[in-house]
Amino acid sequence: MWVSEVMLQQTQVATVINYYTRWMQKWPTLQDLASASLEEVNQLWAGLGYYSRGRRLQEGAQKVVGELEGHMPRTAEALQKLLPGVGRYTAGAIASIAFDQATAVVDGNVMRVLCRVRAIGADPSSNFVSQQLWSLAQQLVDPARPGDFNQAAMELGATVCTPQRPLCSSCPVHSLCRAHQRVTREQPSASQSPPGGPDVEECAPNTGQCRLCLPHTEPWNCTLGVTNFPRKPSRRPPREEHSATCVLEQPRAPGGTRLLLVQRPHSGLLAGLWEFPSVTVAPSGQHPSKALLQELQTWAGPLPATRLQHLGEVVHTFSHIKLTYQVFSLTLEEQNPVTTAPPGARWLTREEFQSAAVSTAMKKVFRVYEAHQPGIFRGSRNSQVSAPSSCKKPSRGQQVLDNYFQPLNSAAQ
Ligand code: SF4
Repeated sequence: MWVSEVMLQQTQVATVINYYTRWMQKWPTLQDLASASLEEVNQLWAGLGYYSRGRRLQEGAQKVVGELEGHMPRTAEALQKLLPGVGRYTAGAIASIAFDQATAVVDGNVMRVLCRVRAIGADPSSNFVSQQLWSLAQQLVDPARPGDFNQAAMELGATVCTPQRPLCSSCPVHSLCRAHQRVTREQPSASQSPPGGPDVEECAPNTGQCRLCLPHTEPWNCTLGVTNFPRKPSRRPPREEHSATCVLEQPRAPGGTRLLLVQRPHSGLLAGLWEFPSVTVAPSGQHPSKALLQELQTWAGPLPATRLQHLGEVVHTFSHIKLTYQVFSLTLEEQNPVTTAPPGARWLTREEFQSAAVSTAMKKVFRVYEAHQPGIFRGSRNSQVSAPSSCKKPSRGQQVLDNYFQPLNSAAQ
């Protein structure tokens, strides 16, 4: 259950199912997961996004096995305190569903239901409103069947009280719902106010003082009905960053073309994943090829700048960063392929690349590279750096490169 809860954070069930099945087949127990390598975890998680979640899951398993004598914490407080990557929601879900603790969960679905039922119109992402929602959920949770209650509340939000088209007429809590009551009251045919106390949004009318009401800057909109609640949280646009990345290929390597991948640092964005050599560059206006070539040479020794070809552009949005990759390729045409690489780098075949621990962004980069195969595309209009590599003779720099690597006599990686 811990695995499924972590995988389902910010990811649809349909996407998760395959990952979950493969994960549980590979590591059916906490002991199995604890003894896995980070490389294996990243490899299985590749494509699911938010890669630190997989790493934290494994760290948590190691903690349970190594420090807690194999005993999983059973309360929300202990789960959140002791296990890395387990936040308030995940702790509440595990404790209530797996261990019957009468503790609340508030995910996006529950938040939406509660905001509508109690007509809470203030920004639900604010600390104050969030605390109010958790407090409310804690008051409501059924002490006899907390797991069932929490799952039902989440399911209500997912299937009935949906973001755009809530099914109020078939909703089991419509008689309690203040958003629904307000819609009913404001219909022209309504002649009487519904029973019950004042709506939250009426508790300090027009004063702008209530911290739960719809803000006076965004009052009730009749055309939105119950979807006036919850208020859309104010989101900052993702930060824009730019990168140049290069697919360094050896077309004559044994077993087919091999591509150079390097490992990212073990902390930060995409920690420990493999990528084509990349550099962060300034936005438009500066040509990234020089910095990129320098980066490539730290892994592969002197390289001929004239073979660097611009293939296109890839945009990938991570949770908080919109990253634009300028995609390049560079082909090593020499007769003596190399298959060993410095620590932190690997030469992979195309097939190995597909199953490696690489991010979705790198798979997009790979597709741009693939679209330029075979060489008929290499003289494309996108090329900003050089003539097609097939027209070039090996340079002196390439001879140096050949010496940099060991000769072919061993397997890649
Ligand atoms: S009555 Fe409508 S708005 Fe209220 S909880 Fe049910 S579906 Fe949501």
